[in-house]
Amino acid sequence: MLSLLKGRKILVTSHRDPDGDCIGSTVAMTLALEQMGFDAEALNLDEIPYRYTFCDPYRLIYSMNSIPDREHEVAVVLDSSDLHRLGYEMEREFPKVKHIINIDHHKSNEKFGDLNLVDETAAAVCEILYGILKQWDIDWNDQIANALYTGITTDTGSFKYESTSSETLRIAADLIDYGADINIIRTSIWENEPYNRIHALSNVLDNIKLSEDGRISWIKISLEEIERHQLNNGDLESFVDYPRTITGVEVALFIKEMEKGQLKVSVRTKSCIDATKIASVFGGGGHKRAAGFKIKGTLDQEEERILKVVQEEVDKEYKCMDSLI
Ligand code: AMP
Ligand code: MN
Ligand code: MN
Repeated sequence: MLSLLKGRKILVTSHRDPDGDCIGSTVAMTLALEQMGFDAEALNLDEIPYRYTFCDPYRLIYSMNSIPDREHEVAVVLDSSDLHRLGYEMEREFPKVKHIINIDHHKSNEKFGDLNLVDETAAAVCEILYGILKQWDIDWNDQIANALYTGITTDTGSFKYESTSSETLRIAADLIDYGADINIIRTSIWENEPYNRIHALSNVLDNIKLSEDGRISWIKISLEEIERHQLNNGDLESFVDYPRTITGVEVALFIKEMEKGQLKVSVRTKSCIDATKIASVFGGGGHKRAAGFKIKGTLDQEEERILKVVQEEVDKEYKCMDSLI
């Protein structure tokens, strides 16, 4: 990997609608490369949600408008199963990029890089980066430790999901020794809710739905509600965890009307169903327990169609679910 990076201007980038893993890995990678004397710049298409800004104290992550130039020759693409997830066209925006290093943990990764470091057993890209930075023998500091810990704790649902291995916990322990501050991380990410977000959540939960067989629960939000509650990028993260908590529910969905005629759907599953299987029907992807997709259409038109696909998948797996009772 270092031979691909040496002497070249490096772009560190990740998927749009940035989450903790993509922000944490982008910041940690950029800080490590700078420390080693490389010329690296970080980019994300969308704004960093307020709850993650603590992770990037030096404001390393540029937006497309603020990046100083487009002279980068090699790109490190993090936490993205394919290049479309970046939300911009690499070839058009960065025509000098001749090499791509793809570091990811999505099952659906398309191995689009010249070098593909894809480990679908890793709980987060930040877990993979920990191993890489150990090999590079960097000087660990609070910023790198906070960034990597953030990615791991958010992608594992605070070390709850089945992707959490003993290795994940050992890495998290090391990161605390290297300076990760769990109090700052917790208060920034989970104890930092603006009132309007909680108000919107209460409205959304007022209309929560449960399928007849009790195995699917879903929530939705219209563009009008998003605007009325003045919700920003990232404000809807984690709403989908609520329908998943219902006893007996196997699939939880959150259908969001992000723009007029554009829906984004978050899919979460509990035990028998692979969330990527549902997302892939609609051209999306993700992980076994958390996946997503985007489709054109309105809430009224698409809700029924989406539910039909999910119900079919649930019905196929009913034997597995019955054995859990
Ligand atoms: P979200 O529901 O946005 O929190 O996404 C859950 C998981 O699915 C994350 O790992 C995303 O990277 C992945 N994901 C979401 N949307 C898509 C998409 N359109 N294509 C591929 N993967 C996606
Ligand atoms: Mn991600
Ligand atoms: Mn991730």
